[in-house]
Amino acid sequence: MMRFAVLGSGSGGNAAVVECGGLRLMIDAGLSAKQLSARLQSVGIDPKSLDGILLTHEHGDHVRGLKVFLKQNPIPVYTTPATARVVRETGIDGGTWKFFEAGQAFTLGGISVETFAIQHDAVDPVGFVLGDQSRRLGFLSDAGFVTRSMTERLRGLAGLFVEANYDEGLLEADTKRPWSIKQRISSRHGHLSNTQVTELIREISHPALGRVVLGHLSSDCNTPDIILNRLRACLGELGHGHVGLHCAGQHEPSDWFDF
Ligand SMILES: [Zn+2]
Ligand SMILES: [Zn+2]
Repeated sequence: MMRFAVLGSGSGGNAAVVECGGLRLMIDAGLSAKQLSARLQSVGIDPKSLDGILLTHEHGDHVRGLKVFLKQNPIPVYTTPATARVVRETGIDGGTWKFFEAGQAFTLGGISVETFAIQHDAVDPVGFVLGDQSRRLGFLSDAGFVTRSMTERLRGLAGLFVEANYDEGLLEADTKRPWSIKQRISSRHGHLSNTQVTELIREISHPALGRVVLGHLSSDCNTPDIILNRLRACLGELGHGHVGLHCAGQHEPSDWFDF
């Protein structure tokens, strides 16, 4: 069995937890250590029982709680050397660091971890595909653009977590963000729009895709209704209305999703 829960997702902090093959891994640690521990416990996980933390990239909303969390729970951190260097420059000295290069695959206990490079304004951002012999879960957080090779990596999944950061119309109409910030968000090194996510899911959906969990929704420039309606329409057209859709929130953990 494989199961997955989002502890929180959005510009205020991101973290998720996956159980598979007898292992428990957290992906990113962007909430405060206190919140990470509390939310892990609320989904029934003792923080000390984690086997490791995978990092997607070094932005604060993905690593904010890491330093204190590692002091309390000295577990291995898996990331690329470039991401580790930048994260450790912020004063994180504890923990055991294990390195992979973007694009490499490795196994942890009973889990295979495939990694792939993504486009985002970070030093060496990656996505993951975690799995065992019978199912695979894709994990694609902050990314400005979906390349052909990323799409190929995400075929044949049983489940997918993907960011759906902004709706193009709402971003354009937004009056709080200066033009330069809007440019950064929508650039090829920014975040994924609802259109980009819908196109990705159109490409990779298949009869055995059971669940798509959306995250990192902008609180001003997206709503769960907009993206869920778009995806429902798209999946319905493809005859894949069976795919379960869920938007992860910032302020509380999701349920567990089983695969
Ligand atoms: Zn980021
Ligand atoms: Zn982020």
